[in-house]
Amino acid sequence: QRLGIDAGGSLIKIAFEQNGQFRLKKYPISELKEMANWLKMTAGNAEINLTGGRADYLKENYFQQARVVPEFKASCEGAIYLLNKDEIKLGAKYLLVNIGTGTSWYLIDGHKNERILGSGIGGGTFMGLGKLLVGSDDYQNLVDLIKEGDREKVDLLVKDIYHSESPIGGDLTASNFAKATFTNEHTPADQLASTVNMMAETIVLLSKQTSVAHQLSEVVYIGSSLIGNQSLKDGLASYSTMVGLSPNFLQDGEYSGAIGALIV
Ligand code: ATP
Ligand code: MG
Repeated sequence: QRLGIDAGGSLIKIAFEQNGQFRLKKYPISELKEMANWLKMTAGNAEINLTGGRADYLKENYFQQARVVPEFKASCEGAIYLLNKDEIKLGAKYLLVNIGTGTSWYLIDGHKNERILGSGIGGGTFMGLGKLLVGSDDYQNLVDLIKEGDREKVDLLVKDIYHSESPIGGDLTASNFAKATFTNEHTPADQLASTVNMMAETIVLLSKQTSVAHQLSEVVYIGSSLIGNQSLKDGLASYSTMVGLSPNFLQDGEYSGAIGALIV
């Protein structure tokens, strides 16, 4: 039995083989110790492959025999595996954007990969601002609330400034959150919708700049921050297309690291 464990800042992702197929599971990081103790008891003879920010902690304290796979390599190899599985054909060079607690950009060129950029805007931002704005730290609860929100109540759009013919699209954001300066007609749901939009815009703008620097046009978005969050996916997809990037999303993409740790 072989196991791939990706222990990141927020979630633990586990991949293991069963009857020739990958089985995938995730746990909150608050359950790290229970999970490690349980695995140690039940999967004592399994070959353990660790990756993610807490891989070294797990090796030292629970699985001394385990192999640690660098997070960058695991994420990229796992994503390549899932791309092949979904039969998504991309050019030789493309960007992999992992929207985890924070966000990382990888340049993939064949099986060569390199982390080329990072940003603190990620799933942790959604959770943290969600807590501040809505008062909840429940992921599903927050994700459900986005649909009730209207970002235009909070964001200042170009058409709010240019009432006549504008030099750029009226629906573009002039300034995120700026409308809150002079109106109180917005709910926490509106503010949350605005947050998700700001994340999508920022991640796509950084992807665009990176793609220009490396002369490519295809992007693959992965990470647990996309789970059930259709607004974020829609934002990433439409802004990517708008700036000339072709967006791709992977089935089970949040398990790229765990799968990569297992197969490399
Ligand atoms: P990093 O790679 O940055 O160290 P990570 O690997 O833990 O962190 P991911 O698991 O890819 O990151 O994504 C974490 C994000 O996924 C959270 O910040 C949150 O926005 C989102 N998320 C999705 N499902 C859940 C859940 N059930 N509980 C908490 N967060 C969730
Ligand atoms: Mg991660």
